[in-house]
Amino acid sequence: MIQNNIFLREGLIWQLEAGIDECIGDMPIDRFAKTTIGVIDHNSKQFDQKITATYKGSFVKEQDNTTDTSQVVKSISTQPLQEPPQSYDSAPERAILSAVAMAGATNSILDLRTAVEDFEDCALKKTAMNTVFSDGSPSAKIMFIGTVPGADEDRKGIPFSGLSGLFLDKILASIDLDRSSCYLTNIIFWRPPGDREPTLNEVAVCIPFVERHIELVLPDIIVLLGGPASKALLGTNEGITKIHGQCFEYSTPKMAASILAVPLYHPINLLSSPAYKQDAWRDLLKIKERLSQKL
Ligand code: URA
Repeated sequence: MIQNNIFLREGLIWQLEAGIDECIGDMPIDRFAKTTIGVIDHNSKQFDQKITATYKGSFVKEQDNTTDTSQVVKSISTQPLQEPPQSYDSAPERAILSAVAMAGATNSILDLRTAVEDFEDCALKKTAMNTVFSDGSPSAKIMFIGTVPGADEDRKGIPFSGLSGLFLDKILASIDLDRSSCYLTNIIFWRPPGDREPTLNEVAVCIPFVERHIELVLPDIIVLLGGPASKALLGTNEGITKIHGQCFEYSTPKMAASILAVPLYHPINLLSSPAYKQDAWRDLLKIKERLSQKL
């Protein structure tokens, strides 16, 4: 008995050290067990990824920025927005269906903000103090999209209002921008408990709102801050160290033309790894140049 308890305790300590600090179900899930054909394991990672891919409304092409940045050379995903199947009845699918419907029914940024604030199908909202929607000017030509609100953002309800926001302000100033000349948002509208990474399901539930957000702001350029925002909106699995500074075309079926999307290191990446600053500076100069071409 005592021996068993020691094993249990060691197991728990091991999990805590590995960053597992939350219980999401009563029963363990054997992720290695094969799912029976025709039966979807709603808790599986593949299922999460399938949801993200299925509901990804964006149509993204990568441009080759090593040579001529105006030339589209590689298509990453040409998946048009698909209407979600009506037969889904599990909680994650219902949440996504509801997000698609609510986002699709909005016709202004104010409508969208209200829809996000009224949305009850993302569990993150229950533990957050505020919905963190946007900051800056909705008529800006450039939109920066980060990942998740932190503690400061949660308290104030404003994206990038903490430490990484202070650094983002410096980044903006380096290319002659400030919050009045750009628009800021995140791919997740509520702070995850303990500042953990958002799950793929949480991202999938928020993405219909983010896509509608881009459609309504319709900037000339979107800058995707960090890997999670880039992956969620470009549908790529490449990390930020690989794709930062590259030019992508982003569009949704509701957009008449695509817009330029550039992944950039997240301010947090630059604060924790200053060695990335040199690359980030080059990327910022490119963004500045592309922005001046649009004026
Ligand atoms: N990091 C983000 O990605 N967004 C914020 O709003 C704050 C920190």
